[in-house]
Amino acid sequence: AATAAATGEDCCVKVAVHVRPLIADEKLQGCKDCVTVVPGKPQVQIGSHSFTFDHVYGSTGSPSSAMFGECVASLVDGLFQGYNATVLAYGQTGSGKTYTMGTGFKDDYQGGIIPQVMSVLFDKIEILKHQSEFQLHVSFIEILKEEVRDLLDPSFLNKPETANGHAGKVNVPGKPPIQIRETSNGVITLAGSTEVSVTTLKEMAACLEQGSLSRATGSTNMNNQSSRSHAIFTITLEQMRKLNSSSEIGANDTMNEEYLCAKLHLVDLAGSERAKRTGSDGLRFKEGVHINKGLLALGNVISALGDEKKRKEGAHVPYRDSKLTRLLQDSLGGNSRTVMIACISPADINAEETLNTLKYANRAR
Ligand code: ADP
Ligand code: MG
Repeated sequence: AATAAATGEDCCVKVAVHVRPLIADEKLQGCKDCVTVVPGKPQVQIGSHSFTFDHVYGSTGSPSSAMFGECVASLVDGLFQGYNATVLAYGQTGSGKTYTMGTGFKDDYQGGIIPQVMSVLFDKIEILKHQSEFQLHVSFIEILKEEVRDLLDPSFLNKPETANGHAGKVNVPGKPPIQIRETSNGVITLAGSTEVSVTTLKEMAACLEQGSLSRATGSTNMNNQSSRSHAIFTITLEQMRKLNSSSEIGANDTMNEEYLCAKLHLVDLAGSERAKRTGSDGLRFKEGVHINKGLLALGNVISALGDEKKRKEGAHVPYRDSKLTRLLQDSLGGNSRTVMIACISPADINAEETLNTLKYANRAR
């Protein structure tokens, strides 16, 4: 048995595994559960392989609030201190990435990470609003085949279907492509994407919904491209904190202010599978082994960050190898906090991809 040793306390990337239950379709196919979560330990077993992570959430109990509390809540706190952060959901198509992140709208979306982030964020703002002024912005983009698409582009709204049934998601002619830029102080920006200023939870939820819909609309007619694209919901929090040092009478009333800005990327990654299976007619075909550039680069970046020896030597972190890692550059590594949630199916037919996912996640530690 290959056991991965577990010490990752001071590592900058936390890794959790989320094992979803068998779904109806798998039960109908007579699938067996082949993944064991070791009770009381953050450990999963599949066949003779055993892996230990920072956290493992099984299919029983109510993992979504525990996952949020243990993996994500501190990242939201960090935003208020000016730390960027990234939450990534990794796994094969159908493993539960969208369910876990709450990027979709159909199932139980309130339990997803993004809805929980939003609600905690606004609760904290409510508590802190007398000492700070806040501004929130949201963007929601998708990276497909190394191209950035704006899921909040207002021109996607109510767009009529074209003759061949393709709705939305066509790049608007004449609109310049969205570009990832880096400012002189290392801040990454997305030039040309929609940034929506929001003041209420409702407004932010509307952005999530709109973007999710425009992602889904395109995908039904485009050979399920959503499984091949990375969807990135980004919340930017700007804060003007009043440092009021003088409440005594007679003190001069100079008011100091501190400006903080931080962003949280919530990423529903492309499906990690290499060969695609078709479902309906039971046929299997291999799509010429397609390795997603972003996933490959992300694995390399995260493993470079996790390798402390290399990090201390100032080794090269290959952010520039893909649009995904370029965009996340200022929110992965350095002072930022990163959580990767590896999503897996327990079904025996998925065992090979599940093992791949666990290996990929294990590299991140
Ligand atoms: P992905 O985004 O990785 O392709 P989805 O999030 O769409 O996968 O999940 C695939 C299916 O499994 C959906 O029908 C979803 O409702 C279901 N599912 C995923 N995770 C869970 C879970 N933790 N509990 C119950 N059902 C789940
Ligand atoms: Mg999905």
